[in-house]
Amino acid sequence: KAKGAGRKRFHIYEAAFKYDHVENFIHELELSHAIEKEELYVQYQLIYHPVRETVIGAEALLRWNCESRGTVQPNSFIPVAEETGLIVDIGYWVIRRACQDWHLLKKDYGSEFKVSVNISRVQLNEKDFVQQILRILKEEHVAPGAVELEITESTTMHSMQDVQQTLSQLRANGFTIALDDFGTGYSSLSMLTLLPIDKLKIDRSFIADGNVPLISAMLAMASALHLQVIAEGIETYEQYIMLKEMACWGIQGYFINKPADLALLPKQSEIFVNGVGKI
Ligand code: C2E
Ligand code: MG
Ligand code: MG
Ligand code: MG
Repeated sequence: KAKGAGRKRFHIYEAAFKYDHVENFIHELELSHAIEKEELYVQYQLIYHPVRETVIGAEALLRWNCESRGTVQPNSFIPVAEETGLIVDIGYWVIRRACQDWHLLKKDYGSEFKVSVNISRVQLNEKDFVQQILRILKEEHVAPGAVELEITESTTMHSMQDVQQTLSQLRANGFTIALDDFGTGYSSLSMLTLLPIDKLKIDRSFIADGNVPLISAMLAMASALHLQVIAEGIETYEQYIMLKEMACWGIQGYFINKPADLALLPKQSEIFVNGVGKI
């Protein structure tokens, strides 16, 4: 009897496994046509300087409007795109779109405004990544100084030397580099001095936990290393005031705006009037 039940469980497991496999395959197939079918789009989340009270940038966040499953969030399709290598073309598509949108965004937020783009480890590993990105910026008439590249800590785990070299080249060409989701990876703190970066983005889990001693320690450390800090995931007025008082360089989060289509972004003057954060 026990044996029978075991076998039944096995069959269920096996079926579920196969189903998963087919699902993934379909997912990949659909994703491979997403660019040509114009199913990808970008939403923006503003980056705000709480001391100057001005918008200083916006992060491009990728979305996929899939025919069979509706809007798919990046956390579920970017891993698939990375495994299959599709992220390379998708990544170039995002960079081009962000450049095109920068021309419109700077009209509202000023010419100091930077657009931030997330870059995957797989993209950085491309031999001609620096050349390709420079070509796209040239075609779109955007200077590298207007673009910030966000890399995650896990990116930097693999082949440190190659990453170091690519980032140095990018910086030499005028791009700024931000280390995303800081504090959540497995890297050592010494990487902060080894990697050619300009900014740290404190992961939103530290903000959500309200870990004030840790946040102020991260700010002090960043300042000693001459790195600017952006705090992610600011959702409340209390969090906003806390980071403003700590003179955090930039903040980002639902308190300022939820990621939105370009046309729906709040203007500089609307942020604390129509936005979530009425002060
Ligand atoms: P990320 O770069 O750390 O982006 C911040 C994520 O936090 C975004 O999720 C954003 O919507 C969310 N977020 C912002 N403010 C708040 C807040 O106040 N509260 C909460 N709970 N969440 C907030 P999203 O858009 O789902 O993106 C998830 C991740 O997907 C990004 O994390 C980034 O790593 C990746 N990603 C997005 N677009 C791209 C892309 O074009 N290329 C690559 N390679 N990765 C991307
Ligand atoms: Mg990011
Ligand atoms: Mg992040
Ligand atoms: Mg993240």
